[in-house]
Amino acid sequence: MLKTAQDLIKRAGERLGITQADIEYLLKTEAEHEFDIELANGERFKAFRTQHNSVLGPYKGGIRFHPEVDAEEVRALATLMSLKTAAVGLPLGGGKGGVAVDPRQLSQDELEELSRKYVAGLKEYIGPNKDIPAPDVNTNARVMDWMVDEYEKLTGDTSHASFTGKSLERGGSRGREAATGHGGIIVLREVLDELKDDKNPTTIAIQGFGNVGIFFAEIAEKDHANWQLVALTDSSGGVYNPNGLSAKSAHRFKREGGRLVEYGAAHAGTITNDELIATDVDVLVLAALGDVINEQNMYTVRARYVLELANGPISEKAYDYLTKKGIIIIPDILANAGGVVVSYLEWLQNKAREHWPEQRITQELEQYLTAATRNIFKRAVLDKISPKEAAISIAIERILKARNSRRL
Ligand code: GLU
Repeated sequence: MLKTAQDLIKRAGERLGITQADIEYLLKTEAEHEFDIELANGERFKAFRTQHNSVLGPYKGGIRFHPEVDAEEVRALATLMSLKTAAVGLPLGGGKGGVAVDPRQLSQDELEELSRKYVAGLKEYIGPNKDIPAPDVNTNARVMDWMVDEYEKLTGDTSHASFTGKSLERGGSRGREAATGHGGIIVLREVLDELKDDKNPTTIAIQGFGNVGIFFAEIAEKDHANWQLVALTDSSGGVYNPNGLSAKSAHRFKREGGRLVEYGAAHAGTITNDELIATDVDVLVLAALGDVINEQNMYTVRARYVLELANGPISEKAYDYLTKKGIIIIPDILANAGGVVVSYLEWLQNKAREHWPEQRITQELEQYLTAATRNIFKRAVLDKISPKEAAISIAIERILKARNSRRL
């Protein structure tokens, strides 16, 4: 994933005609923190926080708890965050953190201990004006609440602006939990609109019926009568019905403790993750992990659009292949930017000690993402490049402009 992100920057940079030194500047990370967390039971885990670029503002980006987290993945994700905040026009930089752990193996108390020790290890390097982490894979409002509490205990800060994605009681924002999925809906709607594509029904398959995918699916179902969900999977596999299925009912089944694949067996039919990627649909939504479409399975994709709701879900080779085939990839740094946009709104509310109504959040989220989508797709047409390259080009220009104005 790191190589993919870096090659995309190099490619866009070379086409823009920027110097090699500027490309090096965009690739390098400003700081990398790596440490061990030891729990009271003696178990040890590797922890990371990478701060990629802060020329546009404080570092911003999530923290993930996943066994596959390593320094390279965190570096790739931090780089993508800098591009994302810049591409959608936020005054924020990019960072990312993680712990190499399978949180399902921990008790609630151990998870809390891990979260608090993560903050203790980083307290000098993070904070409301330095680096503001947020949820990512396997972390949520509860984890952020522990983290902000620990940060405030250790530093005396009382603003709650040191982390975003908190619960409402702890200074979180309305609309934050749904924001990434909601943002994906806005972006997809704008892209179809921009390309005057109003096929009815527009069929959709979602890989990753979790934190992000569930919100995407439920909002799609509620607000877009001509969009039809036909396949959903999570790590267990999932459900497929070419005639349409209900996200709400699949979600209820999961909430009550059932597995999505059992829902499939009890209802329309089951589907594996590999089969989902090869489904004949209009839109394939990738809302799980990185590199899920790669050299092995890229030939199987039949969708007309791929919406990257996860970070880095398509490898570089697969990206080239799909783009050549004419499949429109709606890039992660746009498609999943709803999360960081509402994080930014949460941070502003904390700093002003305000609580904004949901309507204001939705309105601002709409504004950021419709403007960014139009801008990126116009640029793609103008320069005859893919939307991903257009998004990266816009981000690069904004970062370098800020850097150059600072040097004067
Ligand atoms: N983890 C999310 C992302 O990858 C959100 C980051 C944030 O809200 O700071 O964009």
